[in-house]
Amino acid sequence: MTAPQDDRRAELAEALAAVRERLAAAARAAGRDAGEVRLLAVTKTWPASDVALLTDLGLDAFGENKEQEGAAKAAELSALRPDAVARWHVVGRLQRNKARSLVRWAHAVDSVDSARLVDALESAAAKAVDAGERTDALEVLVQVSVDADPGRGGAPVAEVPALADRVAGCAHLHLGGVMTVAPQDVAPEEAFATVWEVAQRVRVAHPHATTLSAGMSGDLEAAVAHGSTCVRVGTALLGRR
Ligand SMILES: *Cc1c(COP(=O)(O)O)cnc(C)c1O
Repeated sequence: MTAPQDDRRAELAEALAAVRERLAAAARAAGRDAGEVRLLAVTKTWPASDVALLTDLGLDAFGENKEQEGAAKAAELSALRPDAVARWHVVGRLQRNKARSLVRWAHAVDSVDSARLVDALESAAAKAVDAGERTDALEVLVQVSVDADPGRGGAPVAEVPALADRVAGCAHLHLGGVMTVAPQDVAPEEAFATVWEVAQRVRVAHPHATTLSAGMSGDLEAAVAHGSTCVRVGTALLGRR
C-alpha cells in the first residue's frame, strides 16, 4: 500500500505532465517557443501540502484569490518546504483594506483594476519596506475586462493604459503587464485578441511590461495562440474545486 501523499504526488505529476503537453502543443501550433509561457498554479481551496508537492515537481509560482487563505498557505509552505522558492500571486478581486497584510507575503497582484487599489497597494508596499517586511517592489498586472462585467473584475479596455501609467509611477510597485479572465459569453479567441492589443499598447509605453497573463484550464490553447506569456491553471492541475 502507498501512503496518501505518494498517491497525491503521482496524481499531481500526471496532471502537470498533461498540462505541459497541452502548453507545448499550443505553442507549436502558434509557432511559439513553449519556454515563453510560464505556468502559474492556482492553488485556491487546495491545501499547502499540495503546494509543497508542486514545488517538489518544479513549480515555483502559485496563485490565490483570497488574502487570508493565501497568507496562511504561504506560511504553511515555508514550514513544509523551508528551502523551496515560491512566488505568490493574488489573482482575485481584492478589497483595499487587505493591501497592508497582502504585501507581507505576496510577490505579485495580477488583478489590479482601479486607481484607488493602485494607491492602496503603493502605500501598503511603502510601509512594508519601511517596516523591513519586504525588500522588493510588488509586481502588479492591470486586469483587463473585455466586456466590462463588474462581476469578474477588471478595468474596461479604455482605462487600462492610464492605470498602467499610474502603476509605473509608483516607487514601490513594478508594472509587469496585463491580465485577463475571458468572459463566458464571448469567444475566448475574440477576448484574447482584444487583450493582446491592449497589452501591446501598454508595452509601447512601458517596454519592460511584457507579461500577458491569459488562459486557464479551459482556454489555455486560445490564450497561447494570442500571445499569452503566463497561463493560470487550477482545475487541470489540482482537480475540481
Ligand atoms: C480560479 C482562477 C483561475 C484558475 O481557473 P481554472 O479554470 O481552475 O484553471 C485562473 N484565474 C483566476 C483569476 C482564477 O480565479
